[in-house]
Amino acid sequence: MRKIVELRALMSEKGIDALLIEKQENYFYLTGMSGEDSFCVVTHQKVVMIVDFRFTSQAKAQAPDCEVFEYSGDVFATLNTMFHDLGVSRIGYDPESTTCSRFAQAEKKIFNVKFIDASGLLETLRICKSEDEMEIIKKAVGIADSAFSSSLPFIRPGVAELDVAAEIEYRMRKLGASGPSFETIVASGARGALPHGVASEKIIKFGEAVTIDFGAVYNGYCSDMTRTVFVGTPKPQMKRIYEIVLVAQKNALAGCLAKATCREVDAIARGIISQAGFGENFGHGTGHGVGVEIHEAPRLNSRSEIELQEGMVVTVEPGIYLPDVGGVRIEDMVLIGEAGPIILTQTTKEMLVI
Ligand code: ZN
Ligand code: ZN
Repeated sequence: MRKIVELRALMSEKGIDALLIEKQENYFYLTGMSGEDSFCVVTHQKVVMIVDFRFTSQAKAQAPDCEVFEYSGDVFATLNTMFHDLGVSRIGYDPESTTCSRFAQAEKKIFNVKFIDASGLLETLRICKSEDEMEIIKKAVGIADSAFSSSLPFIRPGVAELDVAAEIEYRMRKLGASGPSFETIVASGARGALPHGVASEKIIKFGEAVTIDFGAVYNGYCSDMTRTVFVGTPKPQMKRIYEIVLVAQKNALAGCLAKATCREVDAIARGIISQAGFGENFGHGTGHGVGVEIHEAPRLNSRSEIELQEGMVVTVEPGIYLPDVGGVRIEDMVLIGEAGPIILTQTTKEMLVI
């Protein structure tokens, strides 16, 4: 209910009578309905889930506080009738999820309404997590931690990156995950220089570093973590960049305090890596919010002036990537707490040589 009350306050500020939500993550966040291809209309009096026959029972079970309306045929014709019956005319929509072509159809088929840009309304609500959400996120993080530790024995010379990804994903599912929160990254040897090197058929060789970036979805919420492990004694250059990334990561985590700006946290990690001479080898942001989406607000990068607040959950994931040599990234999830950062990821960050 808190979410609906807060959303209605935001709607009032924008002069919106009814908000049309098309994005699955947004209506899931608001109502609990996890099926795809559905719509949610929020007015100041009611919340209606609009679904086709495939999702009627699911919506009724998952969103017991909502009215569930089953439609067939043209959803815009349905919305036209519904808006008229509800007596609403100032309709908020999200240009990020309603494409231009769909919006053109809506304008043709929905009469006597004014469409109002309501982008970011749900994202604003989602940025700080409730106690209930934090518990679910902690569980998603715990699943990833456990799957990682039980998969470590499978990371050895002669094994393909895809095998390692399969082991981790299998274990996450056995632990209750509905699936991975994104395509698992396993990047070994020189492939480690690719920040988004999804697992390939490449065989892991003795002496290589292996960067593994993965997460679980549990009850609709994501987790995200990265560790770089060494198969055999690391080369001195790789050992050095591991140590630098670790110092950068730990310091940036410690800087995840309420009222710090995202830019300031990014600057902590970036400053340490730059001072060590690897600034150009850290080309991505330091972290991002995590919730019903794997990447959501706030973004920890050099441009964001957003202040961290209690209840936000973000990643801290600096890295150093040396083309044709390899890379190191270390990523934890952290909750911004009243008394300081609460690191959710429990897996050790000491250099693992296996
Ligand atoms: Zn990650
Ligand atoms: Zn991440």
